[in-house]
Amino acid sequence: MPQAEDRCAPPTPATVPGRACGSCTLCCRLPDIVLFDKPANAWCTHCIEHKGCSIYAARPSVCRDFLCLWMTDAALGADWDPSRSHMMIYRQGPQMTVLVDPDNADIWLQDPYHAQLQAWAAEGAPAGNYVIVFQQDDVFKI
Ligand code: SF4
Ligand code: SF4
Repeated sequence: MPQAEDRCAPPTPATVPGRACGSCTLCCRLPDIVLFDKPANAWCTHCIEHKGCSIYAARPSVCRDFLCLWMTDAALGADWDPSRSHMMIYRQGPQMTVLVDPDNADIWLQDPYHAQLQAWAAEGAPAGNYVIVFQQDDVFKI
C-alpha cells in the first residue's frame, strides 16, 4: 500500500553542496504530518508561505531531520528543484514517493518530468523498486 505519511526517514543524508530550500515550503504543505494532525495538501499552521517556519528553532525532529530527495541526491538535476518542479520527492524503502503541488496538479504528466519518472520506475523495477505519484486525491503507480 503506498504511503505518504511520516515524512521523516532517518538517517538524514547530507545535503548536496550548493543546494538550499530557499523560499520553497512544499514539505510544510504536501505530506501528511501525523504529529500535527495535518492532512496532505494543507499548510502546517506554523508555516509562513514561501518564507518558512515560524517556530524554526523549536521545530520537532520530524521536520528537523527531513530533507527531500532533491536536497540529498545530486542525480536529481535543476529541473527537480521543488520550487521549479512543484513536486516533492522522497524515498520510503522501495518506494519513491512523489507529492504533486495541487496548484500545479498536472505538471508530473509533462516532460521532462513524466519521462524521467517512467525512466526511474523502469530502472528500479528489477530490484523491486517503484514510483508512486500522489496528485490531489489520486494515487498513481508508475
Ligand atoms: S521540499 Fe525540499 S527543497 Fe522544499 S523546503 Fe522541503 S526539503 Fe527544502
Ligand atoms: S513545524 Fe515548521 S518545519 Fe515543520 S511542517 Fe510546520 S512549518 Fe514546516
